[in-house]
Amino acid sequence: MRLLFLGLVALLAYFLLRKLLKNYQFSRKNQVIDTRRMVRCAHCGIFLPESEALTEGSHNFCCREHRELAKSDKG
Ligand SMILES: [Zn+2]
Repeated sequence: MRLLFLGLVALLAYFLLRKLLKNYQFSRKNQVIDTRRMVRCAHCGIFLPESEALTEGSHNFCCREHRELAKSDKG
């Protein structure tokens, strides 16, 4: 009877661990997608990671020069 109980506990722990591991992998996957999100420079059209892009309003730029150029284009 004791062995049965131990087996049950082990089984429960196994399933719990599997679920936790799945959740962990899932959140890690989401994070990777998030950091690799690409945006487009509104001036030259080059693609770059969102984390490296400069934003001005709703536009993204690859560098400060392009941001300034786009600003002066508008007048
Ligand atoms: Zn650019």
